[in-house]
Amino acid sequence: MRVEAVTDRLTNRLIVHRAPWLLPISRQPIADGGLAAQGGLIVAVGNFKQVVRSYPGAEIIDHPDAVLLPGLINAHTHLELSHLAHLSQEPSPTSFTGWIGHMLAERAKADADKKTILDAARAVLSRQQDQGVVAIADISNTGFIRELTSEFPGHLLCLKEYLGLRASELVASLNSLKEEVDHPDACCTAHAPYSTHLELLRALKNRATRLGQIFSIHTAESTAEHDMISQGTGELRDFLEQRGFWASSFRPTGSDSKGSVSYLHQHGLLDSRTLCVHCLHVTDQEMDLLAETKAKVCLCPGSNRYLGVGTAPVERYLRKGILPALGTDSLTSNPELSIWQEMRLLAEEHPSVNPADILRMATLGGAEALGLNRRLGSLEKGKEAAIVAVKLAGSVRNTFSLAEYSLYQDIKSNFVYSLA
Ligand SMILES: [Zn+2]
Repeated sequence: MRVEAVTDRLTNRLIVHRAPWLLPISRQPIADGGLAAQGGLIVAVGNFKQVVRSYPGAEIIDHPDAVLLPGLINAHTHLELSHLAHLSQEPSPTSFTGWIGHMLAERAKADADKKTILDAARAVLSRQQDQGVVAIADISNTGFIRELTSEFPGHLLCLKEYLGLRASELVASLNSLKEEVDHPDACCTAHAPYSTHLELLRALKNRATRLGQIFSIHTAESTAEHDMISQGTGELRDFLEQRGFWASSFRPTGSDSKGSVSYLHQHGLLDSRTLCVHCLHVTDQEMDLLAETKAKVCLCPGSNRYLGVGTAPVERYLRKGILPALGTDSLTSNPELSIWQEMRLLAEEHPSVNPADILRMATLGGAEALGLNRRLGSLEKGKEAAIVAVKLAGSVRNTFSLAEYSLYQDIKSNFVYSLA
């Protein structure tokens, strides 16, 4: 069994890919499927015989014993922390703030130069590509990762992260934000509600809106965050105070039932381009706010498990009509950066969730979260021909087991990536 990622973007040939199964994601699986692509775009999807009848001169590429899926999307990572991979090899931390403190200390101790950071990031990026990932949202403080965009054949969305809760830092942060180039690809974003001054959050969101960009923010990740955002108390406040980062001007929501999602909503920061990452500690009412504002959610099961912060209420999201995206987060909080692994962890923790929905999260959910759903996320006419072919060991007749089977294939030993 093996996975093969195929893109046709480098050629203008008309190609029809044939496979025993297509999983378009946006519609029911298609048996004996045909997908016609030209110039990197999908021109037709359907039954092979019908597709090939419409394009009689097309070159045919057969994927025997395979199921074709849209390329995967990693909606949240921090490639610039890849040189600190040893952190997630250590036993899980005993507290959320303990991990933040340890990570910051190790980062300072390593004092890595640009080359070290980029070399480690490049290796992770290459592995993501090998696993059929076609779009990534990357968060960085240095902005170095932008240099790797031309090396990745998919979409590498680089978001420069700002943070700082204290008023004394605000003017400098706002000034440096003003100096950022106004370019659609130069994205700036915020770390988290607990670490970023409200005025800075607003300035970052306004800039993202003006430039048509997504605004990604860590949200509702831990109970420590919930305690601080709702009541202004707890281990996170203590941690910030000890490090001299606490701001007395910070105003919590004042209600235990109102955490980070409520906070963001209260300050006008939720809309269809806001991507809330983690979203574990969210009430039903807050889910309604996410649904009403069409804000996006990205889940990171691997990171959540390592940090011991809980599991996301996946079934509730799906019941509310919210399709989350999936992200790996960084190698400092996740021992293995793989969207396949994220899907398997999610399936293990939520056995009642249909595997087809989990595949939808890793594809269409990710594309919607990154604002790329007109180009990626499903096998549909007009979208990019960024396809993953999962080789099946035997015949699969039932569409439920087809999705489950695709999820559990072993990608580690038998993987090939090719640019057709
Ligand atoms: Zn993160």
